[in-house]
Amino acid sequence: MNENIKDKVVIITGASSGIGEATAKLLAQKGAKVVLGARRTEKLKTIADEIQADGGQAVYRKLDVTKAEDNDAIIALAKETFGGVDAVFLNAGIMPNAPLSALKTDEWHQMVDVNIKGVLNGVAAVLPTFISQKSGHILTVSSVAGLKAYPNGAVYGGTKWFVRDFMEVLRMESALEGHNIRTATIYPAAINTELLEDITDSGMAEQMGSLYQRYGISADRVASVVAFAMEQPADTNINEFTIGPTAQPW
Ligand code: NDP
Repeated sequence: MNENIKDKVVIITGASSGIGEATAKLLAQKGAKVVLGARRTEKLKTIADEIQADGGQAVYRKLDVTKAEDNDAIIALAKETFGGVDAVFLNAGIMPNAPLSALKTDEWHQMVDVNIKGVLNGVAAVLPTFISQKSGHILTVSSVAGLKAYPNGAVYGGTKWFVRDFMEVLRMESALEGHNIRTATIYPAAINTELLEDITDSGMAEQMGSLYQRYGISADRVASVVAFAMEQPADTNINEFTIGPTAQPW
């Protein structure tokens, strides 16, 4: 087991499915103590039970990332249960893509709330702890839509471009201020998860569904990237990863 993962306390947001679930299971197998957050607690319970049955350590808590108090509470749970926090994987996100002309303004605001404010809340909740202990690792999931513009994904892409900029400045400021905090931003392409279930535009659901059916790869692949980032020595920050199906051209 890698010493940079074994016994490390890792909070994972959006741990009830997809990339978050796969990452929780992989890190727990590698000896991390995982703290799972999402809104669907019944799913979290099943995942925590599976991890424990496999010999790992996991606790969970209801977490709505849009609520600052929920983010504070999951940090408190990690400290109460495992005595601290070493890393947070701010993974929760939604992607109800549609053309702008469909004017799905409620969904625009939901994406801003979850994908942007959720990351801000998560960072705000953990930063005082990481600053005072002069160590910590903050990992997030942007998207290839945070690197390139895609029609029908203006707002989703905008939230993911935000994550890219925010994480780079967080990395720079942490280094400038001597806080010794590592950061990593992951830019996945098509990964088979529950993400497309958020899409309410029928044309978009069909189009993206066939793209994912053709190209999509397993969420385990992204979990391996999270583990790789964490496995590096404490003086080494691998801060950006793009990952997607070999066969996917864009
Ligand atoms: P899933 O839909 O499987 O997982 C999304 C997770 O986010 C769920 O656990 C969900 O849990 C959680 N979530 C949603 N809203 C909230 C909220 N308000 N508070 C707390 N948790 C919330 O999709 P993925 O695993 O694919 O998504 C994970 C991340 O990866 C997202 O940020 C997504 O944008 C990003 N991504 C995914 C790609 C892909 O192709 N799959 C490509 C690029 C990026 P619950 O509903 O229980 O709260």
